[in-house]
Amino acid sequence: MTRVLTPILATLCNLGRGVLDATLPQTCVACGIWLPAGSGLACPGCHTEIAAAFLRPGCPRCGRTLPRASIHEDHCARCRTEQFWNVAGVARVSTYEPAIRSIVLGLKYRGQERNAHYLAEWLAAALQDRGWLDGLDALVPVPMHWLRRWQRPCDHARVLAEALGQRLKIRVVRLVRRARHSPSQTGISSKAQRFENVRGCFAPARWRRPDFAGKTVCIVDNLITTGATVHEVSKVVRQLGARRIYAAVIARAAAPGDPVASLVPTDLEVPSTS
Ligand SMILES: [Zn+2]
Ligand SMILES: [Zn+2]
Repeated sequence: MTRVLTPILATLCNLGRGVLDATLPQTCVACGIWLPAGSGLACPGCHTEIAAAFLRPGCPRCGRTLPRASIHEDHCARCRTEQFWNVAGVARVSTYEPAIRSIVLGLKYRGQERNAHYLAEWLAAALQDRGWLDGLDALVPVPMHWLRRWQRPCDHARVLAEALGQRLKIRVVRLVRRARHSPSQTGISSKAQRFENVRGCFAPARWRRPDFAGKTVCIVDNLITTGATVHEVSKVVRQLGARRIYAAVIARAAAPGDPVASLVPTDLEVPSTS
């Protein structure tokens, strides 16, 4: 019965949200200014800022925003020396720009789910650009420990994965669980310590786990800084038999010295929501 009711309820909620978005004035998901009814989720200024960041070229493997000249085939020079993950490629919307940061924090700390729907539109465009949609079997959110879930208004990676899955018609599978609570990565600046902090934190989900042998999956999270969390999750997904693993994140943090702001934009298609 639950299997039948869940999609019906989701459809009704979407219809309700669509009607409210079209008829009531609301605020910009990034800067909070009031928008006219039916004008979308972000103001033109914030949408333009995100579009500019989205259009900057990046390394298809690690997702860092870099000049085209420093990307060789499907990787950058740093990818050649850092063989730290099982992930075949990272799709990202942008670096951690102020507008993106504000939307991500609104989702993470205030549980603003419409932020997830706005971000999912960008992320869907990023995945489409990579050509990953054909043959992608599932989206796997980075899991949150129950203790942190208790402290936060929502499980933000899961909410984002579900908004993306709904948009792309790809199923979301909670393939991995967080077996051990660890301090937040936010306060840790050393790369080695960030890897150490999450080492062994993840394990296969205990129940209702479909067979993923030979499948292609995409890990979904808000942010990659060093890649430590995605690396640990990818180890479990690989252990469960996935053949190809991608990662999709809203923001890929720039490394110190990356010439992000001066890059010439690409000619990708930008989502029209503004
Ligand atoms: Zn705005
Ligand atoms: Zn790279």
